[in-house]
Amino acid sequence: MTAMATYNRPWNRSATSTREVATEQSAILRSMRSHTATVVSRPAATPAPAPKPAAPVKSKRELFAEIDAMLAGLPTGFYAQPKREDATNGNRPFYFFKIHPFRGDKKRIVMVTGGVGAFTEIPMKALWQLRAVQGIARDLAAAAALFGKETSTCGFCAAKGRRSPLTHPRSVAAGYGKDCAELHGLPW
Ligand SMILES: [Zn+2]
Repeated sequence: MTAMATYNRPWNRSATSTREVATEQSAILRSMRSHTATVVSRPAATPAPAPKPAAPVKSKRELFAEIDAMLAGLPTGFYAQPKREDATNGNRPFYFFKIHPFRGDKKRIVMVTGGVGAFTEIPMKALWQLRAVQGIARDLAAAAALFGKETSTCGFCAAKGRRSPLTHPRSVAAGYGKDCAELHGLPW
């Protein structure tokens, strides 16, 4: 009798209905299942590190927005950037660029070839524009000076259509004129 009672536990307490037994059993099964599930799902709980996302490719729209934002902070002028050492095109170790007003209050950057007063403007693809603008923005004085020393002309004045050969020794050394240096807060 005692053995029988023990045997019947836990789902045969006095006058336990079949339904109550079923409920109790399913509760036990549920707890077992959830335990099993926990064990099984443990590897998933510590997932492998997510694969590094590829560098996001900027859309043209984003590129031009970035270029426009940088151009907004740069003065109109001619600038030069050194070519990469492995660049073989052209006969100068520099690229010349012109930042000029465009569509009202906007600015645009183009590459220029030829000599002062007879430059040919060459439109650039967005990535080239960005690289040129970044290079100029990184060191405005150096970019302006490189152009000025190469052409003996103040690039800021030249971009405004003013003829401005660098004559003062300090201007020659700086690569741009005194007034433009003051205007743009550059060393002279
Ligand atoms: Zn000037």
